Amino acid sequence: MLNSNGFIVVIAAPSGAGKTTICHEIEKRRDDIVYSISATTRPKRQNERDKIDYYFKTEDEFKRMINAGEFVEWAVVHGNYYGTPKNSIKELIDGNKIVIMDIDVQGARSIRKVFPDASVLIFVMPSDVMRLKERLFKRKQDNLETIKTRLANAKEEIDCIDEFDYIVINNELEKAIKDVDNIINAERLKTSRNKKQIEKFKEDLKDEERIL
Ligand code: 5GP
Repeated sequence: MLNSNGFIVVIAAPSGAGKTTICHEIEKRRDDIVYSISATTRPKRQNERDKIDYYFKTEDEFKRMINAGEFVEWAVVHGNYYGTPKNSIKELIDGNKIVIMDIDVQGARSIRKVFPDASVLIFVMPSDVMRLKERLFKRKQDNLETIKTRLANAKEEIDCIDEFDYIVINNELEKAIKDVDNIINAERLKTSRNKKQIEKFKEDLKDEERIL
């Protein structure tokens, strides 16, 4: 593997398309990936843990963080605040790591603005609407009103698909994980991400010419 720079992989998708599972699986399987834990004012779900799935905050705490400039981006999604803490994203990518984040399309757009050359935007799409609906009901995490909002938002999210670099269809989870993994591998090998190594090789060649 070339000694490339790190970058950010943004995974966005309509709610229920399976992006959180994909992110966590990728993080588990690769040691060059760090998952970016977001902050939110949404109530914690039964299976979620503070500081692992999200930093759960009150609205006052979240607003204090906004005013203190602690977010790379933040947005109101489905009526709750969500934000990506600055933490050490820049240091991580400079240090050759890949930061993976599960955020909405507004967040994806902001990340592209802040890190235009160091962001890869992947949109995960469910194979069809029925499947999406089924998943939202099956996971029993949200009430009917919330599910309705999430389905309505899916329409707007799909309209932004052209802003994304890649589309992954999550028909079969294992295949979708593999697709994301392949995208990451290809991105690692991009010429533009391996400038340092190329420059070093050029310099070494010059030295060789001098010696001969
Ligand atoms: P959920 O409540 O289902 O965990 O997430 C709802 C939506 O908020 C999802 O689309 C998720 O990707 C998005 N989201 C989670 N964290 C962030 C974040 O830090 N920033 C933004 N902009 N969206 C986020």
